[in-house]
Amino acid sequence: MKFLLILMLSMVSHIAQAQSITSWTEQNGTLGLGFPVPIPVDTPEPFDGFRTYNGLFTKHQSMALNNPFITGHIVGQTIYDRDIWAYLLSDDNDLTKYGVKEGAMLINGNIHAREWQSPEVLTGIMELLNDNSQDQSLHQYLLENTTIMALPVNNVDGLLQTQRFPTQNWYSNQTGPRDGRMRRKNMLNVDEVLTSQNDFLLGVDLNRNNNPYWATSPRSSSDVTSIVHHGLSAQSEPETQARLTAAQLVDADQVRIYTDVHSFSKVHFSVRTDIVNRNILQASLLNDFTTHHRAFPAGKDYVDTPSGPGNGIGSTDEYFAETYQVPSWTLEIEPSISGATEYGGFGNNNHDGFILPESEISRVREQLAQSFMVAWYGQAGPPSITQIRIMHIDSQNIVYDAEWDIQADGNRLLVEKSFESIVSGEDYSLIVSFDKPMRTRNSNGDIVRLQGQPNLPGSSNSINPIIDVMLSDQAILGSGLTNGRWVNEKTSNVLSYKNYKDDTFVWDLLNVNFVPIPGAIGTGDETLPVKLTFNVTDKVGQKIDANPETVVSWTNGQWQNYEDSNLNSSIVGGVDSSYSATFGNPISAFSALIQPTGLYYDPSRSGEGFSYELLNDGRVWIQWFTYDDLGGQRWYSGVGEFSGNRIAVNQLNQISGGVFGENFDSNNIEVSSFGSLEIIFGGGEARPEPIGFHEIERTAKMAYTDLNGKKLRTDLHQLSFVKGALNTTINTVAPIEEPVGLITGSWYDPLRSGEGYILEILEDGRAILIWYTYDNDGNHMWLIDSNGVVTQEGNDINLDFNNVVVTSGAVFGEDYNPDNVINTSWGEVHMQLNCSGTGTVNYSSTIDGFGSGQYNVTKLTHPWVLPYVCDQE
Ligand SMILES: [Zn+2]
Repeated sequence: MKFLLILMLSMVSHIAQAQSITSWTEQNGTLGLGFPVPIPVDTPEPFDGFRTYNGLFTKHQSMALNNPFITGHIVGQTIYDRDIWAYLLSDDNDLTKYGVKEGAMLINGNIHAREWQSPEVLTGIMELLNDNSQDQSLHQYLLENTTIMALPVNNVDGLLQTQRFPTQNWYSNQTGPRDGRMRRKNMLNVDEVLTSQNDFLLGVDLNRNNNPYWATSPRSSSDVTSIVHHGLSAQSEPETQARLTAAQLVDADQVRIYTDVHSFSKVHFSVRTDIVNRNILQASLLNDFTTHHRAFPAGKDYVDTPSGPGNGIGSTDEYFAETYQVPSWTLEIEPSISGATEYGGFGNNNHDGFILPESEISRVREQLAQSFMVAWYGQAGPPSITQIRIMHIDSQNIVYDAEWDIQADGNRLLVEKSFESIVSGEDYSLIVSFDKPMRTRNSNGDIVRLQGQPNLPGSSNSINPIIDVMLSDQAILGSGLTNGRWVNEKTSNVLSYKNYKDDTFVWDLLNVNFVPIPGAIGTGDETLPVKLTFNVTDKVGQKIDANPETVVSWTNGQWQNYEDSNLNSSIVGGVDSSYSATFGNPISAFSALIQPTGLYYDPSRSGEGFSYELLNDGRVWIQWFTYDDLGGQRWYSGVGEFSGNRIAVNQLNQISGGVFGENFDSNNIEVSSFGSLEIIFGGGEARPEPIGFHEIERTAKMAYTDLNGKKLRTDLHQLSFVKGALNTTINTVAPIEEPVGLITGSWYDPLRSGEGYILEILEDGRAILIWYTYDNDGNHMWLIDSNGVVTQEGNDINLDFNNVVVTSGAVFGEDYNPDNVINTSWGEVHMQLNCSGTGTVNYSSTIDGFGSGQYNVTKLTHPWVLPYVCDQE
């Protein structure tokens, strides 16, 4: 504790009095507590009591070893050369799920040795995040979208000294209890023996050793025996330097909040600076902390007691407030200044508040940890809409899609696509997603207000967002909005949350019924803009950013780019009205058709493309043939779910570990995520003459999201027209009366799982081969020939690919240039395939190192529109 105790100490009489080693006791006496004296237990697991430093450290290390979100870092050494550890709790990039740099939450513990509540609360925070790191909710959100830096035990030497003597300390009326259990300072010039009387007052108060107000206050002292001795110079102590090193585990522009956790007096000693908005936002977030914590059954009320700006005592919170201009405070854990009497103790000694009864620590540890999550959730940033979608309920088709894509310059771009218009008389779902989980649920799974948050019905703080749907300035659909619900289920369709439970809200717009204003609205084929406006807050009442184009950040003591409803800069946000769907035209005739198997490519990006196979179970097998950043080939695979006009591949796989030829070992194959993929078919162009059953040349919008939240979008066109049969009026298929129907699909050698062959037999009789494999160095390689010759003898099919090429030269992503693609002749591939779905592959290459060889292959997939008579026998 920082202020009140010091005041009391300064009032102590200066009459010299003998010092003696005195014990804390349960029964009444000079240091009588009224409850058992806590003795630390050497166990890593939390219990109703205090852990030894070794127990705490073992738990920290075990969490860091077992949870990929937690990493340990040695940030310095103590006076006694013991390592000081900080822990980062985050994923392995410093970007949010949407590609924005993460804010960092800094928390320091146990700077004062005797304040055992502090390292227990820091460890409780780590345990809470560790135990819930896969909750797909608040904790996983914090881990994946912020960086938490926890330094649980800053004063390791001091904590060990207090735990060496858990019941004893030097005592006199003049100095009060010092050293042993009541050591506050570090161990500079102090031995670890309690009985040596010459050094028990020595050491540096690490919370007086800091810039910018070092040695500027009468509440610190140059007297080495003072309980608030500030050290020889600012930042003189190794523990102070370790804390500064820990802060540098994150970038300076990431720092969003700092807390130094002490005990006792149940207060937020917050630091004001001369930036008014910073002080306002700090008070607001501390209020969120306090009201959340007070709502627990124990009702503990932490009072915000801010300092005046421009002066200080050399404490750590001042350093972080002034250096980073972020909310920064000293948390004084309970009890209040009344000390042990809060728990029925004697209150004989004004130091007994440092000794929390063992029976209280589980509650304090667990519930303060939860209140920190609330403060960090707020400081993670105000919410922003990430995507709006409108889905036609009957067809499940996406008719409107608007998404904010992060750009290289750090701003976002609204990518808005209308696939179809909203049509009178039809039913739709309106889906809005946010960049953070927006609501809380109780143990029954019902949406509830976050505990402690005010109930303001009808305001933007309502449980449900407020939405206006306007056509020509007339609210048309508002009354038709029904069945609003936050989404806490992850599914493959669009009525799913995005990244975390309750980051998405859905309304239904049933039987859209628009009564036009006479003269305002046209008729017929005309389409009209439908303006969509959203007003909503996150769990702690922060409004959405009214202009997501400019990304909110924390700079110069406040939120920046956090526009209000008038698009002016603010610290409160507003109403987001960026979106415009269309109303009017009838539903596309193309949309109800299934999308046939084939190759798709972007005509402006010739030289890369997708293989798309619609499987019998309604899923889709996708392969992407493209390049890396250096012009080498890459291929990625995934299984997608198909609904309406949309395919979602939630995890696109990157496969590695293979090598060309006989050294291939499928045991070396490794699969990792390369991001996600979505393809929305937008109908297409009717062909003047059908090609076989293909009456339409399909088009689609492709959106790839990389692991850093960055998007790549291309416009896909159907490239290949596979031989098959499709009854377009009833969407059913007729079997192909010839064995070549068997061939189209994917083939592989079961002994060489991790590479394979995509084959298509086209309506014009050609065969296409894409062989996705590896080169001799283990790099991806895909070989292609689109002029394969098909010959048939009964049920045996021969495919001759006489001019197989390998490509190179283009680079992945936005900088793709088809002119850079170089085709190099690779050699020949001959396949003999039969009716039972097996066969052989023979290859011979003209490029050194590949040689020739033969594999046995098996059919892997059976695309849905291509049933084969032989298959059905
Ligand atoms: Zn303290």
